[in-house]
Amino acid sequence: MSKLNVVVWGENVHEHRDERVREIYPEGMHAAIAQGLVEAGRDFDVSTTTLQEPEHGLTEERLAKIDVLIWWGHIAHRDVDDSVVDRVQKRVLEGMGLVILHSAHFSKIFKRLMGTSCSLSWREADEKERLWVCNPGHPIAAGIDRYFELEQEEMYGEPFAVPEPEEQVFISWFQGGEVFRSGNCYRRGNGKIFYFRPGHETYPTYYDENVRRVIANAVEWARPEGIWQDHQGCENRKEPLEPLG
Ligand code: ZN
Repeated sequence: MSKLNVVVWGENVHEHRDERVREIYPEGMHAAIAQGLVEAGRDFDVSTTTLQEPEHGLTEERLAKIDVLIWWGHIAHRDVDDSVVDRVQKRVLEGMGLVILHSAHFSKIFKRLMGTSCSLSWREADEKERLWVCNPGHPIAAGIDRYFELEQEEMYGEPFAVPEPEEQVFISWFQGGEVFRSGNCYRRGNGKIFYFRPGHETYPTYYDENVRRVIANAVEWARPEGIWQDHQGCENRKEPLEPLG
């Protein structure tokens, strides 16, 4: 089987505005996420792109070749061009995998695919997050113990305004008492979508071994299993196979 073409899309704004973020991710958050995928040693061909590139680096030609797209965004969701969102949505419906990270719960593409507000409650207080595995048999949880912890993260709490996940892989508990559905699987058309919660920009979360393992597992899980290029046109009208009298 040929290598999976995996692209990490990064908003790449905090890294240029916030010294603390730049110190943790000097090459950008997208680069650290991509590095984790490379170091996972799996059959991935990994590249990155950012909001600042023409067409955000997601031209028709490039998107057509992507097997799994990973998306991190936060303060510039509104700067993502609607025509690119349309294009990504079309590819997901055809069968491309999509992994949505952390604050990308509010990205245009995730809200579009969910059809709900995707709102949640949150707090930045350097608190511990414990991610519990809901189904140890799920491929995205492969190699993860009963739970794993991140010493400092932003809190996301319920209610999380998303459709009921088709499979629940993780639930997070936070030191302050909240819980959150933090590893959620969906299908839209032929495409698989995984939402994974951790990854606030001021913490070194994307260097964490367990987080990296989950993202690599999610890429393998979301790989295309069949592509249907729906032309959505009137030319689909068909003559009957049998005479109708
Ligand atoms: Zn955050």
